[in-house]
Amino acid sequence: MNENTSGIVETVDQETIMGDIEVKEPGIHDEGKEIPFPEYRAPDEEEEDPKWPEDSNLQSLIYKLPDDKLPIIYDDIYNITFMGLQKLHPFDSEKWGRIVDILSNDGCKAFQKLRSMVCKPREATDDILAVVHTQDYLDSLKWSSKVARVTEVLPIAILPNFVVQSKLLRKLRTQTGGTVLAAYAAYRRGWSINIGGGFHHCYSTDGGGFCAYADITMAIKMLMEKVDLDRIMIVDLDAHQGNGHERDFMGNEKVYIMDVYNRSIYPQDEYAKGAIKKKCPIVPGLKTDPYMEVVTYNYQKALEEFKPQFILYNAGTDILEGDPLGMLNISEEGVIQRDEFVFKLAREQQIPIAMVTSGGYQRSTANVIARSIINLHLHDLIPR
Ligand SMILES: [Zn+2]
Repeated sequence: MNENTSGIVETVDQETIMGDIEVKEPGIHDEGKEIPFPEYRAPDEEEEDPKWPEDSNLQSLIYKLPDDKLPIIYDDIYNITFMGLQKLHPFDSEKWGRIVDILSNDGCKAFQKLRSMVCKPREATDDILAVVHTQDYLDSLKWSSKVARVTEVLPIAILPNFVVQSKLLRKLRTQTGGTVLAAYAAYRRGWSINIGGGFHHCYSTDGGGFCAYADITMAIKMLMEKVDLDRIMIVDLDAHQGNGHERDFMGNEKVYIMDVYNRSIYPQDEYAKGAIKKKCPIVPGLKTDPYMEVVTYNYQKALEEFKPQFILYNAGTDILEGDPLGMLNISEEGVIQRDEFVFKLAREQQIPIAMVTSGGYQRSTANVIARSIINLHLHDLIPR
């Protein structure tokens, strides 16, 4: 089966990489009227939530957003600070708190009191995670050696598991709860940002690439259970292929996956590629302008094709120039432009959008994400 599909994959590769894409239209910016809006509309605040299925475990992660809070999901618990983990892994493990610090201190007035305006997520405990994960996988994380492999931080293998649970996995479980809450927040308010999450390499039976829990899969399952949506789009613009959600939604017609990824880096999961509906493999070192062409053209096409009722945006910033893992060459302005474009079309077409921050491994990453959020605010794309 792999041999058969690899030929197809290669053809798509060439088309996308060579820029052999008909960039005829300047964008639905200018021709927006011709594209029908999807039937979905965001619910009124007064509107009653649909009832949960009785056996649903996911509902404990959800609560009604207070009016004085923004649909920005964050808790200081997100940040990982033990044994100099940040020195052992290229991942900036305090990135999430730094984003909030920058927004509060150096951002515009709107975010000055951000810490008191965010919605705090609840931890996705094992019984809730079982909605997505097999018991075997959840049990395997009780072995520190397994966690070391999933997170690619080998010294974790020698730590007692209770330390690994409290200092690392609990944080990732809270970020996972954050993504589920963010999906609900976007459904109610039209947009949301989980300052963490985006563990797109994890799927029901395994983790990898620092991703221990399949938060994107869980968030989408919540939307399907709670809100009964039929057309959910994942826009995965992290530098890596999102093989986790791809494996989880393989063959599921309700989920449309667009993935723009560096074709020469981890995970190169050929099987998972079979789930991508809009596949955009790009070459290492790709620069901002051709990257933006690939993103804008394919994103517009994807929206036209699928007319999603909801967008889950995996906004990894490891596309940034200098990122040791992403191996791409996108400028800071390019990242900000990209996020703006993704939000702009979603908002114009009244499609609720939930963003998660995903990969991004440099010390400068937090600053870029904060600047991007401010830019979204300045363009009125994330109104109160
Ligand atoms: Zn990545």
